[in-house]
Amino acid sequence: MTTPIPATLIPGDGIGPEIVDATLAALDALKAPFEWDRQIAGLGGVQAHGDPLPQATLDSIRRTRLALKGPLETPSGGGYRSSNVRLREEFQLYANVRPARTIIPGGRFDNIDLLVVRENLEGLYIGHEHYVPIDGDPHAVAMATGVNTRQGSRRLLEYAFELAIATGRKKVTIVHKANIMKALTGLFLETGEELWARKYKDRIALDTVIIDACAMKLVLNPWQFDVLVTTNLFGDILSDLVAGLVGGLGMAPGANIGADAAIFEAVHGSAPDIAGKGIANPTALLLAAAMMLDHCKLTDEATRLRQAIDATLNIDKVRTGDLGGSASTAAYAQALVSRIKNG
Ligand code: NAD
Repeated sequence: MTTPIPATLIPGDGIGPEIVDATLAALDALKAPFEWDRQIAGLGGVQAHGDPLPQATLDSIRRTRLALKGPLETPSGGGYRSSNVRLREEFQLYANVRPARTIIPGGRFDNIDLLVVRENLEGLYIGHEHYVPIDGDPHAVAMATGVNTRQGSRRLLEYAFELAIATGRKKVTIVHKANIMKALTGLFLETGEELWARKYKDRIALDTVIIDACAMKLVLNPWQFDVLVTTNLFGDILSDLVAGLVGGLGMAPGANIGADAAIFEAVHGSAPDIAGKGIANPTALLLAAAMMLDHCKLTDEATRLRQAIDATLNIDKVRTGDLGGSASTAAYAQALVSRIKNG
């Protein structure tokens, strides 16, 4: 019998519980040996415990070191700090790995197979912000501080080079804005170039590109890229851009990898506009579950899950509304489960 793998499950907010149900159905059909410890966070945490990241949730992840997470709602402007950012800090989840691969052929862009590796703990994204009052206006000036460290940059870049080599990739592109933010992103670029020259130059090609040019090139000719490695805020934006190349946010999974834990999730948010309607596309979270299976060395199960998703979308043509279909989340999950069981 396979050894059970303890894992934390956070259904999350909005469409979270709907796409988590679909993902659990698929994992059950695969007989994946996860032993789930169900916990809450985000808006659900605020409503139940007055805390978007309750202690019990943190304790659970500290114990299992592994989690599958639905999206968590974060209010814009005021309100509480993002539970996602707090989770990344708490468990030092320094690498955010976001693959974008074409599953449904014939779209605007075909044969896309990109990997964005985003630094997850530093940069301008860390939310160190304040206002400066002037002439009675308490919010006259808004200021944000970005922090990049050589050690943090090196750790992430090293992870990206190792992952790229281990998965047979040909080229790593460092995305930066070192022409303008010479210190903040210059440090990241310089650390990457130095690391590559010292350790990786015989094993993989390196390229560098400025973020604005990168955005344009990704739209004009995304096939020129392979692995993109970048700082936190640029990675946040680029990973949504590459999700758009493969059919939108419903198709984009993500893994937050750290020294103390690994948390798998969809790139998208809680989609409040469609929550509760039973029409959300669970594919992104299903692909995140496949990454989680890979992480646990359950490679056969991961491959079977990806093949079943492919067959459900392309042979059975069971698709949710965001992909131009009319299937509900539950109908898609049902079709997927029968593909897993019957091939
Ligand atoms: P969103 O990703 O939730 O939604 C953007 C658009 O994409 C919406 O029109 C939505 O309906 C659609 N969409 C997203 N996922 C979909 C799916 N699986 N199937 C079909 N359509 C889908 O972004 P938003 O509206 O800017 O954010 C909503 C909330 O989610 C915010 O509180 C935000 O902070 C949070 N958020 C959480 C995470 C996370 O937990 N990792 C990530 C991003 C945003």
